[in-house]
Amino acid sequence: MSAVLRISQTHYPVRALGPGTRFGVWVQGCTLACKGCMSRDTWSAGGGTGVPVDDLVELWRSAVARGAEGLTVSGGEPLQQAAGLADLLAAADEVRRRADRELDFLVYTGYDEDELDETRLAAVDLADVVVFGRFDVTKPTALVWRGSANQRMVPRTDLGRRRYADLVDHAPERGPLQVEVRDGDPWIIGTPRQGALRELGRSMKDLGLRVTDTTWRP
Ligand code: SF4
Repeated sequence: MSAVLRISQTHYPVRALGPGTRFGVWVQGCTLACKGCMSRDTWSAGGGTGVPVDDLVELWRSAVARGAEGLTVSGGEPLQQAAGLADLLAAADEVRRRADRELDFLVYTGYDEDELDETRLAAVDLADVVVFGRFDVTKPTALVWRGSANQRMVPRTDLGRRRYADLVDHAPERGPLQVEVRDGDPWIIGTPRQGALRELGRSMKDLGLRVTDTTWRP
């Protein structure tokens, strides 16, 4: 039987967290409690759903068959389920080895590189790129796929270096954001720039939509 990863959700296609079209896994549970976190709904370790890694890999396999160019793991805090993350990446790696194109793994963590113990390091062993660091609301950034200026995007493999070399310092005029509807509610994928969520709330109000609850307010 495969390991179980507690997740908040999965999605395909993700177009705003990493290059190309991707399969996204958001894990559930984070104790780091960054002020201004946009995903407070992923904090509770008891929330979300426990999903066998085998089932997640089937979803990844199906996304690859539909054209996915990579896998993004975010959260929540993936390294607070280090063993499950290691199993997921190992099984997803089996799938990518058989693919007819290169597929990269991008992992987000709120930990800094020097906070990684042996177990956490092993969990990101197969990640081509890791974005390290807590979200810091006092350090806005225009850097693509990062929420704050202190977060470091670190390519760790040849594929990561080739695919992300020009992206580490890339600051597009508009940051990529994706809006999906989940259980009837709008859901934002990406790393909104400072003020973007406030603007979105205002636009929704102008459209006559009443925002009663958000994942970024306590
Ligand atoms: S920004 Fe990430 S690391 Fe920080 S509290 Fe939110 S989910 Fe946790």
